[in-house]
Amino acid sequence: MSALHEELCARLTRYCAIDTQSDEDSASSPSTEIQLTLARLLVQELQEIGAQDVRLTEYGAVLATIPGTAPGPVIGFLAHMDTAPQFNATGVKPRVIRGYNGGAITFPDNPALVLTPEVSPYLAEKVGHDIVTASGTTLLGADDKAGIAVILTAARTLLASDSPRPTLRLAFTPDEEIGRGVDKRLPADLGADFAYTFDGGAVGEIEYESFSADGATVTVKGVSIHPGTAKGKMVNAITLASKIIAALPQATMQPEVTDGRDGFIHATEMTGGSSDMTIKFILRDFELDGLAQKGEILRAACAAVQAGEPRAEITCTIRPQYRNMRYWLEKDMTPVDLARDAARDLGIEPVSVPIRGGTDGSRLTEMGVPCPNLFTGMQELHGPLEWISVQDMARATELMQGIARRAAQG
Ligand SMILES: [Zn+2]
Repeated sequence: MSALHEELCARLTRYCAIDTQSDEDSASSPSTEIQLTLARLLVQELQEIGAQDVRLTEYGAVLATIPGTAPGPVIGFLAHMDTAPQFNATGVKPRVIRGYNGGAITFPDNPALVLTPEVSPYLAEKVGHDIVTASGTTLLGADDKAGIAVILTAARTLLASDSPRPTLRLAFTPDEEIGRGVDKRLPADLGADFAYTFDGGAVGEIEYESFSADGATVTVKGVSIHPGTAKGKMVNAITLASKIIAALPQATMQPEVTDGRDGFIHATEMTGGSSDMTIKFILRDFELDGLAQKGEILRAACAAVQAGEPRAEITCTIRPQYRNMRYWLEKDMTPVDLARDAARDLGIEPVSVPIRGGTDGSRLTEMGVPCPNLFTGMQELHGPLEWISVQDMARATELMQGIARRAAQG
C-alpha cells in the first residue's frame, strides 16, 4: 500500500473500532453519548493536522476550517459519525484483507458468514485491492467513517501543500442515521456556499436526488370491556389496526416490492393493545405529488375503517421529514457540475442515480446549502457483510482534492 492508502486504512479502522451507534428512541442531542468519543478524537486529529477554528458544537457536530490559498466559493465537506441502529455495532473489529484474490471472504467470528462477488457483485471489480470488513458479528461502520477518513486525509494533504484552493469548511455530524444530523444551527455554523456529503457507494457516484419523505402516525382507540361481557360492546383496537394495514396496497407500494423511482408506504412499528394501538409509517416518493398521493391512500384506509366502526376513534397525522434535493439543485447545478468535472479530471465517469433514502444533504439543501452526495466506495451497508476498498477511498480523497483545485479562482 502507498502512504496515502496506509493513512486511509489506519484512519478507517481506528474510527470504525469506536462504537458510535445512534438511538432513535433517545431525546438527547446527540442521541448517544458514545458518539462524543469519536467527536473528541476528531477534534484532536483536526488540530494535529493544522486545521483552524476546530470546535465541537453543543449539538455534537465537529467543525473546522481549511484556510483558502485562493479566492473562490466556500465549500463544505460533511460526513456523519454515527452508525445505523439496525444492526449490532458494539465491539467492531475491523480487519484488512490485503491484495484481495477475487475469492470468498470468510469471517473469524461467524463461520457461517461468507462474502463473495456473487453476494456483492461490485467486489468482483476489486481484485488486487485492499478490502476492509468487520469480523462477522457487527456492521463495519464504513457508513460513514469512510467519509470521515476521506475528508481528514484530503484535508491533511491540502494543508501540507500550497496549491490553490478556496476556503473549505469541514463538518462531522452525529445522528444522520436517525434523520437528526442537521441541527437548525448547522447551515449558519458551516458558513459554506455549497457543500458535499461523502456518504455514497461505488466509485463515480455523484448523487443529487433523494427521496421526499413524510412520517405518519395512526392511532386507534377502541372500546375496552371485560371480554366475558363484551358482546356488542367491545371494539378491539388490534383488529382495526390490522384492517388498516390490510387495506394498504401490499403488492405495489411496500419497500420489499419497489425499486428504481417507485416510492412506498412502509409500516415501521405497531404497538399497543386491544384498547389503544399506534402504527408508525414512513412515506417515500421522488415526487411531491406521489408523496401526497401516498398520504391520501393512508388517510383513505383509516377513513374506511373508521366508517365501518364509528365507536372507534382513529387519527392519522402526517408530517414532513425531508425533501428531494433535486428541487433545489436542478435550478443551479454548479455544485454537481464541479464534482462531475473534478471526477472526469481523474478519469472517473460520474454516475447519478436517485438515492432511495435521504442524507444530511437532503436537509441541508432544503435549508439553503446545496449539498450533493459523493462516493466513498462503501458497500453492503448496515449489516455484517459491510465492506470497502481502500483504493476506492483513495479515489474519493483525490476527488475532494480535485474539487478544491477546480474551485480555486485566479
Ligand atoms: Zn451514511
